[in-house]
Amino acid sequence: MSTSQDANDWEGRYYHIDQILDAPGPRTDEGFMAGDGVKDFLRNQAKILVIGAGGLGCEILANLALTGFKDIHVIDMDTIDISNLNRQFLFRPKDVGKSKAIVAAEFIMNRVPGVKVTPYFGKIQDKDDNYYLQFNLVICGLDSVEARRWINATLVNLVDPENPESLKPLIDGGTEGFKGQARVILPTITSCYECSLEMLNKPTAFPICTIANTPRLPEHCIEWASVLEWPRIHGDKKMDTDNPDDISWLYNVAAARAKEFNIEGVTWSLTQGVVKNIIPAIASTNAIIAASCCNEAFKIATSSAAYLNNYFMLIGTEGVYSYTFEHEKKSNCPVCGGDSLPLTINPETTLEELIEMLTERQDIQIKNPSLSTASKQLYLRAPPQLEEATRPNLAKKMSELIPGGGDVVVTAGTLPFNLSLDISFK
Ligand SMILES: [Zn+2]
Repeated sequence: MSTSQDANDWEGRYYHIDQILDAPGPRTDEGFMAGDGVKDFLRNQAKILVIGAGGLGCEILANLALTGFKDIHVIDMDTIDISNLNRQFLFRPKDVGKSKAIVAAEFIMNRVPGVKVTPYFGKIQDKDDNYYLQFNLVICGLDSVEARRWINATLVNLVDPENPESLKPLIDGGTEGFKGQARVILPTITSCYECSLEMLNKPTAFPICTIANTPRLPEHCIEWASVLEWPRIHGDKKMDTDNPDDISWLYNVAAARAKEFNIEGVTWSLTQGVVKNIIPAIASTNAIIAASCCNEAFKIATSSAAYLNNYFMLIGTEGVYSYTFEHEKKSNCPVCGGDSLPLTINPETTLEELIEMLTERQDIQIKNPSLSTASKQLYLRAPPQLEEATRPNLAKKMSELIPGGGDVVVTAGTLPFNLSLDISFK
C-alpha cells in the first residue's frame, strides 16, 4: 500500500480488514457475503448500539470504529470521575465532571474521521422500543446487573416472530479484576442474561433480616453498619461514601459486629468496596473482554466467520484459564422461558419469609417484590393504600393465603418482567 495515500481515503484505511471481507475462510459462516456487499453493509448501513462508555465502553467504541463500523450510538448515564482516568483512555483530566457518552463520542469522531458516534447522556430506561428497533446489534459494557437485566428483557420482548429484523443480537461483556466474560445472546433463541443469573458470584442485595439477626459474611456486617447503624446514630445526616472519616466509622462499627459473631474478613477497603459498590477494574482485562465482544460483533455483522456460541469465560486469578461453552436456555426463565418456576415450601412459611427467600435466591435476585395470584393481591409495595391494605398478609402463612398452592406472580418495579412461581407445600 502506498504511503502517500490520503489518510482520509476510506478504501486505504481498511485495507487489512478488507483482506478478511473479500475472502471466505476455513471457518466462514454459510451466509458469508464476500466483497462489496458486506463492506457496504458494515460501512453504510449497520447501526450499532454501545451501552456503557466506561472501562469496557471506551475499548468497545475504539475497536468498533477501527474495524469499520461507521454509525455507532452510545448510552451512558455517568459523568467522568478522576479515578476513571487510569483505564478509560478516551478521557482527559479536563473532562472530569462531563458526560462519558458525549466526551467519548467526540474523541472517537476526532480520532477516526468518517465515523459518526451519537451519544445519549442518560439512562437506557429512558428509551422506548422504537429506539432499540433501529439497531442491528447491541453491545453492553456495563458494571450493573440491574441494567443488564433490563436491556436483556427489553430485547427479548422486542422479538416479533413475524419480523426477523426485530431480533437484535446482544453481545454482553463484563469484568471483575482478572476475571471476565463475553457472550452472544440471540434473544428468544439462545439462553439469555436472566437464564444465567445464578452464575453471578454474589447476590446484589442482602435480606435485611439476615443483616439484622444472622450475619454470616463480612459484607453482612458492613451492610448492618451502613443500613441500620448509620441512620440510628447519625439520624438524617447523609453518609458520604467519598469521605474517609465516614468509611472509617463504618469500618470500626462493622469490625466490632464481625468480632461479636466470629466473622473474619472485614477490612477498610472491603468496607469502602461494599458501600460504594466498587467492582475492581483492570485496564488490560477490560481490553481482552472488549476485544472479544467486538470481534463477535464484527463477525455477526459481516458473516465473515462463525461467531461465539455462546459464553466465553476468562479466569486470570489462578494463572490464565479460559473456557467457552454453550450456556443452555432455562425453560422456567422468567424472561425467555414459558414455564413457571416450581417452588416447594413448608406450609408454615409466612408471606414475609417467602419474600425473604426470594431475595436471597441467587437465580432470582429480586429486590422489594410485590406478589399476587390471579384472583388475590398478596402483598403490594405501592400505592401506599394498597401497601397498607395488604401488609397484614405478611405475617400470614402461605398455606392460609393460597390453600393447596398454585401460581404466584412476582413483580418488582425495577424489572421489566414478571416471575411466575408454581408453589406447592411439603
Ligand atoms: Zn432466559
